[in-house]
Amino acid sequence: MRDDTRRWIEADKAHCWHPFTRQGEWCAPDQEPLVLTHGTGPWLWDSEGRKYFDGNSSIWTNIHGHAHPVINAAIRDQLDKTAHVSFLGFTHPLAAELAVKLCGFFPPQTLERVFFSDDGSTAVECALKMALQYRQQSGEPGRTRFIAFADGYHGDTLGAASLGGIGRFFDRFRSHGYECGHVRTLDELCGLDAETIAAVVIEPLIQGVNEMRPWPAGMLAELRDWCDDRGVHLILDEVMTGFGRTGTMFACQRENVIPDFLCLAKGLTGGTLPMAATLTTDAVYQAFLGAPERAFYYGHSYTANPLGCAAALASLRVFDEEQTLAKLPEKIDRLRAGLSALKAAHPVIREVRQCGLIAGIELRQPDGTRFPPERRTGEAVCIAARAHGLLTRPILDTIVFMPPLCATPDEIDSALAALHAAISGDLE
Ligand SMILES: *Cc1c(COP(=O)(O)O)cnc(C)c1O
Repeated sequence: MRDDTRRWIEADKAHCWHPFTRQGEWCAPDQEPLVLTHGTGPWLWDSEGRKYFDGNSSIWTNIHGHAHPVINAAIRDQLDKTAHVSFLGFTHPLAAELAVKLCGFFPPQTLERVFFSDDGSTAVECALKMALQYRQQSGEPGRTRFIAFADGYHGDTLGAASLGGIGRFFDRFRSHGYECGHVRTLDELCGLDAETIAAVVIEPLIQGVNEMRPWPAGMLAELRDWCDDRGVHLILDEVMTGFGRTGTMFACQRENVIPDFLCLAKGLTGGTLPMAATLTTDAVYQAFLGAPERAFYYGHSYTANPLGCAAALASLRVFDEEQTLAKLPEKIDRLRAGLSALKAAHPVIREVRQCGLIAGIELRQPDGTRFPPERRTGEAVCIAARAHGLLTRPILDTIVFMPPLCATPDEIDSALAALHAAISGDLE
């Protein structure tokens, strides 16, 4: 191990605290975390000079590849002007341009306002607060509840966490958050009294943290109808599904659904800088006009950060210049073929689930039962995959494969070959 690598690992173990991480294990003497230093396209390098395919798009964020020249140039250009100015009391050119661009993805008179924040969780927080304040200011103070879906994930700040349907993440904080009911299916939702519901929140087309589980086709459009018939707002959390992952720019476009609130983050800047946006309708916005106390009292210091806006605008330009969406069908087909070959080769693959360029590969014992959780099978396979040049993370025993959209069909094949080798080596 190089001296630098050793020094960085020691410093990390002495002072860093990682997300969702058992720090005791992380800091154990025999653990050698990878120190990732740079990347290009869908490839990353560690401090020992080893090259890896970024198989989960750096935790679901990266779109056009690492160190993309167009995005980097846009960030540099803005950096020479200013890295940050206040969006409270001022505006700046790129925020105005980005807001126009984002609204432009939707028909006129639909999503027309953009509220910027920093992360997926804050995009969701912002939608929740807007949805509640809207009810207070439009004569419906009794609509105070949210409904979310079982096993859903919407972020980790307290408000977003109260929507979360995954017990191991959220149960301990449940009593501190918003009033939120959970349903498994649309049928269960239909059984509820809609009068007290402010909004329903869903990850459209596919639940991410729930081991990549797609919804039945048509479900989103039905949910939209249910909400419309009862005056309930629909909040779509497209933090994972946004920006081409499912094959269209936004997942909701697949079912011609337009939400009342759309939450965007991860891929917004192409995966370069933390930035989020909550889009909403003019009908919602109007309720915040008039008396001063009707204003939306919410914001963050780095709201509409100019570097983030520059990156987001550049990422959207790259979608056009590289015809990113037009190239997706071939990649999605190649992924589908690769996944089915992988499944055919391995009895331990119980199911492969795919939505666009998002895939979950669920491992089970050959008799169909789950592996004992303490065996941490998914984790072991992902660690084995590193030796074959593939980086990704599992969710329980489901291996996530979600390449940057720029990956070529052949790169997708070779990443799946690495996974094949890892499963053969580790489990068979
Ligand atoms: C990642 C994610 C979030 C949270 O986003 P952060 O940027 O991590 O706060 C919310 N919703 C979904 C669907 C996500 O995948």
